[in-house]
Amino acid sequence: MSSTHTYISVILPLKLEWEPCYFVCGQDVAAGQRVKVQFAGKEYSGVVSATGIEPQTNPSRIKEISGIESGLEPVTEEEIALWRQVAKYYLCSVGEVYKAAYPASKISSEEKLARKASRQEERAAKEIARLEKKSGNITKRIQQRQDSLCRKHGPDVMERLKSEIIRLSEELSALQDEISAIRPGGVNAQLPESTIEHDSVKIVLSDAQQAAYTMIKEAFAQSKPVLLNGVTGSGKTEIYTSLAEDTLAKGRNVLYLVPEIAISRQLEYRLQEIFGDTLSVFHSAETAIHRREVASVTRSGKPYIVLGTRSALFLPHRNLGLIIVDEEHDSSYKQDSPAPRYNGRDTAVMLSGITGSSIILGSATPSLESLYNCRYGRFTEVRLTERYYKSLDSDIEIIDTNAERRKRGMSGTFSRKLIGHIEDALREGGQVMILRTRRSYSPVLQCTSCGYIPKCPHCNVSLSYHRDRDRMKCHYCGYHVQMPFVYAPDGHPYHPCPRCGNELKGLGAGTQKIEEEAAALFPDARIARLDSDTAQGRGSENSIIQGFSKGEIDILIGTQIVAKGFDFKGLTLVAVLQADTLLGAQDFRADERAVQTLEQFRGRCGRRERKGLFVIQTAQPDHPVYRQFIQDSSSTAGHAPSYTNELLEERKAFGYPPFTRIVNIIIKDKYESRADRMSAKLHQSLGNAAFGKSGMIFTPPFSPFVSKVADENIRIIRASINKDKSLSANKAVILATISSFERTEHYTGHIAVNVDPA
Ligand code: ADP
Ligand code: ZN
Repeated sequence: MSSTHTYISVILPLKLEWEPCYFVCGQDVAAGQRVKVQFAGKEYSGVVSATGIEPQTNPSRIKEISGIESGLEPVTEEEIALWRQVAKYYLCSVGEVYKAAYPASKISSEEKLARKASRQEERAAKEIARLEKKSGNITKRIQQRQDSLCRKHGPDVMERLKSEIIRLSEELSALQDEISAIRPGGVNAQLPESTIEHDSVKIVLSDAQQAAYTMIKEAFAQSKPVLLNGVTGSGKTEIYTSLAEDTLAKGRNVLYLVPEIAISRQLEYRLQEIFGDTLSVFHSAETAIHRREVASVTRSGKPYIVLGTRSALFLPHRNLGLIIVDEEHDSSYKQDSPAPRYNGRDTAVMLSGITGSSIILGSATPSLESLYNCRYGRFTEVRLTERYYKSLDSDIEIIDTNAERRKRGMSGTFSRKLIGHIEDALREGGQVMILRTRRSYSPVLQCTSCGYIPKCPHCNVSLSYHRDRDRMKCHYCGYHVQMPFVYAPDGHPYHPCPRCGNELKGLGAGTQKIEEEAAALFPDARIARLDSDTAQGRGSENSIIQGFSKGEIDILIGTQIVAKGFDFKGLTLVAVLQADTLLGAQDFRADERAVQTLEQFRGRCGRRERKGLFVIQTAQPDHPVYRQFIQDSSSTAGHAPSYTNELLEERKAFGYPPFTRIVNIIIKDKYESRADRMSAKLHQSLGNAAFGKSGMIFTPPFSPFVSKVADENIRIIRASINKDKSLSANKAVILATISSFERTEHYTGHIAVNVDPA
């Protein structure tokens, strides 16, 4: 080969354990540059990871690159360093992380969609203009008619005039409906322009906040990550924003992470008032075009604060000075599928290490992982034990639904006691939020005669009944089927059992049914529902949250989403219905989760001067979780130390995280017998590979609670690895064993690895 050839290694967006080698001829390429290359007969856009390397294979078999992607910005060393660290930790390929960071394949289809949407928007704008003109004309006509009639006939014709005005007003409101229907995303789709002067909003911290702030600064000065353990309503957001302002004032940039898009919606307004145009919002649901816009902002060299979900970690950050991880305990930070199956909180800690930025994790209910890190000196814990508005802790009332039922104290899903509390709250001008962790009308259907329960044909779960379009739906794979109905001899329509033809009835109540019951119980209240059925699209979700914020909704019913991070001023009563579904005993984390959800939800109410009330309706009032929760919340700050100690001791005794690391090895197969056979075989291989090595044990393959999803049978082998110096070697053994198993058994594509499963 002549000396004008340079050999380079390239990261491809694939599950590849190596970085293939190419050569470049007569061109300059640098690490980080994007290049087009052929691999296994397909063209990919890759990233140069090194140049001037020694080829490991016969140079005659090395191909030339197809070209340099001159339109694409190069990737920085820091970005590649993060990908490598994520890949190593989460046992996936660097290429899979690259693919998540630069989801190129999605771009073209998303772009098409975005272009289509923008054409539709254009058309809609024209139509709106036309209709608005028309409605303007009508208003003018009303005015003219009124004037002329009055002049001609005097006030005695007012009656006639009135009826004409009513007719025209009706026409007008019909037009306005038409306009809102056309407007993309519904009435409230657009964020109103912030009218507040950006430099005039100055945060004044309370004494308690100031003390916490000073401690945080001290920890930052020692390059220590901070866990801000602050009760709900203590003003963690104010502390974050003060820190962000400082960082920007010093000429460095800020990344503000939240677990879910829904939370970012409300924060967006708060942050926009303070940071104005410096604020960009970014999450995976945004279009590729928007993603590129934000990337060009972070690359531009101008100051920025990005508010986003975990995928914002992979933006091309420059000069990052601070990372904020809000609601750090939230399991939505964890990506379950596809690879990289990373936790946004832990990856944020990695990113802060790579970029040398400060990092603060905050929660009212910190994860045991983070408390453990504080206890062992990795993080500094800063506590905020008082609420900004000094409101008293909300009262907790647990209602035993079985006992109430015996006393005829239940009306459908609501107990009479709760109905009374809701009436009181509404009468006093307060707002009410109701949590129910199951969406749909009825989570399960059952035949009243033969007991048959309709199940998804593709998954091992029962179907739930959705009233809106009379369908049974699977919440795992999306399968749905129309439900026919027939008439009983007495004339009432019913859904027949597919097995015996008798009546199918819903068991339990999902959010839809609760909404319906609430509408009947509180006919004067304005009621809305927020779950993944109603939160389709930015517009509707946003308008529900904003509507509740502004007090235009009295009762909001929703799934877990409503329990998270929101700050609603008027909320005085929160209630969990059929709380028993929070108590699933499947997992060693179940109790921790349940207590967190309860505490978070309670923290939504009584955030101003008024004291709130938190009602739990349950069939198991004696469950230890409630005892823990009450004990917990009667102490001053979040997790009471005693409770934390108790949980940590338990985890230690059983060898669970955070004392060990868990890796789930997930086997999926269309054929159940093969899933069993292959998982048994893999278990044996893993056992052999671990033989003679210490600090790593495997469970035999087991079926998860939902053992089949979308026609794939699932088996899991769970590895527990000690957190000692052989940890990363042991993880590498797992990965190597799986790779060789996939090759020798021709079983590629069936095995996934999940480190630190949620
Ligand atoms: P947390 O995130 O800790 O639950 P928030 O940051 O939402 O608490 O604060 C609760 C409420 O108190 C918010 O409405 C917030 O605006 C208000 N608040 C907190 N600190 C301050 C402050 N220093 N100045 C003005 N308002 C504050
Ligand atoms: Zn299904």
